[in-house]
Amino acid sequence: MTAIRTTQVGKTYQSARGSSVVALSPIDLHVEPGSFVSIVGRSGCGKSTLLRLVAGLEEPTSGELEVAGRPVQRPPDSVRYVFQDYAQSLLPWKTVDENIRFGLRHAHSRTDKNQDRKNWPAVIETSLAEVGLQGCGNRYPSELSGGMQQRVAIARALAAGPDVLLLDEPFSAVDALSRIQLQDLLLKIWRTRDLTVLFVTHDIDEAIYLSDRVIVLGPNGIGIVSDAEINLIRPRNQVTTKSDPSYLRRRSEILELVMQHH
Ligand code: ADP
Ligand code: MG
Repeated sequence: MTAIRTTQVGKTYQSARGSSVVALSPIDLHVEPGSFVSIVGRSGCGKSTLLRLVAGLEEPTSGELEVAGRPVQRPPDSVRYVFQDYAQSLLPWKTVDENIRFGLRHAHSRTDKNQDRKNWPAVIETSLAEVGLQGCGNRYPSELSGGMQQRVAIARALAAGPDVLLLDEPFSAVDALSRIQLQDLLLKIWRTRDLTVLFVTHDIDEAIYLSDRVIVLGPNGIGIVSDAEINLIRPRNQVTTKSDPSYLRRRSEILELVMQHH
C-alpha cells in the first residue's frame, strides 16, 4: 500500500474579486510507507498547499487523495503536521506539558478518550525524551530557545502516535547549528518510529541530506519538475555525507534545475 497517493490533485484559489490563482497544478505523487520524501522549490510554488491538502486541512479543487489507502475527507488521525513558525504553533500561556496535552485532545477522534487520558503522562514523557527534552514539561515556551521550541512542536506531533509526519520548513527559523542537530534528531526519530515523512524545505542541501527522494516543484504552481531518488548510505553523517561525490553531484543537478525554472 502507498502511504500517500495523489491522483491529479490540484488546487486553485479564487479571490474575492473573482480572479483565480493556481497554487498547484494537478500532480500524481506516490509516497511509499516508511520513506522520507522532501519537497523543494521557491516561495509560492505550492509546497505548503500540497502539505495542507495531504493533511486534510484543505480540499483539492481536482483529483483524488489517499492516505494509507483511504480517501482524505478530514484531517486523518494518522497524520500530524509541524509548522515552520513554532512561535505561533505553541500556546505561550501553556507549559510544554499542557501544549502537548492540548495536541492530544485534538488527536484520535475515534478512540476512547478516557482510557487514553490515563496514559497521557507517560506518552508525554516519552515523546519529550525522544526529542531530548526530558524534564522540561513544566517550562513555558518563552523559557526555551527556538530550537527547543521546535522540539516541543515535534514532541507534540509524536505524542499522537502518527504514521505520517508532515513538516513545513520546520527548521527555517532556527540557527545553523541547532538546525543541523534537529536534522539528525529527525532522522533518528524517523528510523525508530518507522514514520513516513513528507518534508518541505527551500534548502536543497537539507533536502538531499535527509531524504530518500527529493521532489522539485516548479514556479507558479506548475507542479513537479523533477523527482530524484537519493541513494546515499544511511545513517547519514553531516560531514561525510555532505562531502560524498554523489551527494555533490545530486546537489548540482537539483540546484541547476531549480535555477533553470526561475
Ligand atoms: P509555498 O509554500 O511554496 O511558498 P504556497 O503553497 O503557500 O507556496 O502558495 C502557493 C500559491 O498559492 C501562492 O501564489 C500563494 O499566494 C497562493 N495561496 C496560498 N494560499 C492561499 C489562499 N488561502 N488564498 C489565495 N491564494 C493562496
Ligand atoms: Mg510555504
